[in-house]
Amino acid sequence: MRSTGKLHLGNYVGALQNWVRMQDEYECFFMVADWHALTTDYADTSRIKENSLEVTLDWLAAGLDPEKSVIFIQSHVPAHAELHLLLSMITPLGWVERVPSYKEQQENIKGKDLTTYGFLGYPVLMSSDIMVYKANAVPVGEDQVAHVELTREIVRRFNGFYGKSGDVFPEPAALLTPAAKLPGTDGRKMSKSYGNTVMLTDPEPVVRQKLKTMVTDPARVRRSDPGNPDVCPVGDLHKIFSDKATMAKVNEGCRSAGIGCIECKGWVADALVKLLNPMQERRKKFEENPRLAWDILEAGTERARKAAGETMDDVRAAMGMSLGYEGPK
Ligand code: ADP
Repeated sequence: MRSTGKLHLGNYVGALQNWVRMQDEYECFFMVADWHALTTDYADTSRIKENSLEVTLDWLAAGLDPEKSVIFIQSHVPAHAELHLLLSMITPLGWVERVPSYKEQQENIKGKDLTTYGFLGYPVLMSSDIMVYKANAVPVGEDQVAHVELTREIVRRFNGFYGKSGDVFPEPAALLTPAAKLPGTDGRKMSKSYGNTVMLTDPEPVVRQKLKTMVTDPARVRRSDPGNPDVCPVGDLHKIFSDKATMAKVNEGCRSAGIGCIECKGWVADALVKLLNPMQERRKKFEENPRLAWDILEAGTERARKAAGETMDDVRAAMGMSLGYEGPK
């Protein structure tokens, strides 16, 4: 995850929640991608370190566990850059130029010059992030599948050139996160760039206030009009966060105009507060003593360096570039 600061509920539902579960099933590496943050925010790095910490605090709050997983910062594992350089030698330009996000983001992100060498190449850096741990799988949303596919192509090309005595890298699979696109308070996809988010750190009154302003089924104008939770952003939130009993009350009450939107939004807020409270409780410990979080990052980064270093030894051997005399004794 890029280090762009505090996380919102969309990040939780679309990624983090799934990661927390995966820790029990897989050996996981979770990376604060600060180099990737530079692809768009290169001109001002004043907040980048703080943002890396904020992301980490939200991860720990949500339940990522340094006892189970490796939690680390990309820029302190130089092997990512080394592998990126080697991969860039074998990656045809056409492969990166046709990654859909390249053109999309250049069109969508205004006010920043994204015609940089780094921005074009960031999918190759992502490939290196994945390959340097010989990852078998990457948990991603639909929007990231193209990047994993590019990684698979680069893996095949690398193994084809240098895997004379067996494949160096496995082909990683995309583990698709069951894709709920969480709507924000304005009904569009919740996103930091739209200013429509509920943050994982929002206190109860803020959550309730934001929910009050959330858009609803546009056909339900008056309190007496029946509504349809299936076309209502608040209904979408209920489906994700509310229990069965509440869902039944919403369905019945909304369709019969038995309840008003304010009441219905209050129930979503109840569910959110219940979800966020324990996270915010856990976060407090680290906020009060950020050194604890930095200790976790330092230890994780050390573990990541070791794993990545072993891969790089294999890479150098496969490419015939190991250091030292290898001739007859
Ligand atoms: P933002 O749009 O706020 O900048 P990012 O693009 O940094 O968010 O997303 C980080 C992660 O969170 C990605 O895995 C992405 O798929 C997920 N994510 C972001 N917004 C949502 C959303 N509204 N619903 C579901 N998942 C989301």
